[in-house]
Amino acid sequence: MNLLAFGVREFGLELSPDKLQAFEIYYRELRRWNRRANLTALISPEEVQIKHFLDSLSIYELAEFREAISSGRELRMVDVGTGGGFPGVPIKIVNPQVSLTLVDSSRKKVQFLEHLIGVLGLKGVEIIWGRAEEVARSEEHRERYDWVVARAVAEFPVLAEYLIPLCRVGGYVVAYKGPKIFQELEISLEAISILGGKVVRLHQVQASALESSRYLLLIAKESPTPPLYPRRPGIPAKRPLGLRKGKRPSLSPGSR
Ligand code: SAH
Repeated sequence: MNLLAFGVREFGLELSPDKLQAFEIYYRELRRWNRRANLTALISPEEVQIKHFLDSLSIYELAEFREAISSGRELRMVDVGTGGGFPGVPIKIVNPQVSLTLVDSSRKKVQFLEHLIGVLGLKGVEIIWGRAEEVARSEEHRERYDWVVARAVAEFPVLAEYLIPLCRVGGYVVAYKGPKIFQELEISLEAISILGGKVVRLHQVQASALESSRYLLLIAKESPTPPLYPRRPGIPAKRPLGLRKGKRPSLSPGSR
């Protein structure tokens, strides 16, 4: 895990031997389960260290996140559409005090995650097999999280409706995005505001090991989400909020 150990220094992090070993185990289990659970197309040790582990940890470039972590307060995070555990699990390995909820609608991915969390011996992780639209409507999860994160799940007008309802007022939403975010953001502003969010900034990831076209979209939750949202499973993707018919640009789904 040398590339990872070296890479995280730019985030001001130093990984202990225990944590590096946890990443080794994570890598080994990803490889073992990849065919069965279809976890990732990137599987070389270099790719996983950089494009999954280091990329997931790029949230440390956000001052708001570093402050929340160093405050020592309990921090509740949910990772929506986590797949093989990105970005939530690398963040949890580095910061065991984060209480983490992982959500994915794929049963095989959830089985992998249950196995992984067991092998890593991580405490304070809840794994939910379900759709974001449903989880965000349940009392237990709605507006309960300080940090809501997602990578490569949907284009932002759709993702906003999955993520913003889960965030408490005063909390933050972070979407890990590629260069298409500029187009996506333009068509998402109405949805973000309807859902009670406000764009804080679009941060371009600085880490030299990562591609220069990685972005973190940081949104603050300013007011409660109207009870109408999220709409029923499938509706946010079919009729993205704030987009009138015919206005929808053709973006590929899940741009990383
Ligand atoms: N975040 C991971 C996986 C991205 S693939 C990564 O960056 O590598 C997208 C994942 O989102 C898939 O595992 C899929 O099952 C899940 N997903 C898509 N729509 C979802 C929804 N509405 N609710 C929950 N999970 C969803």
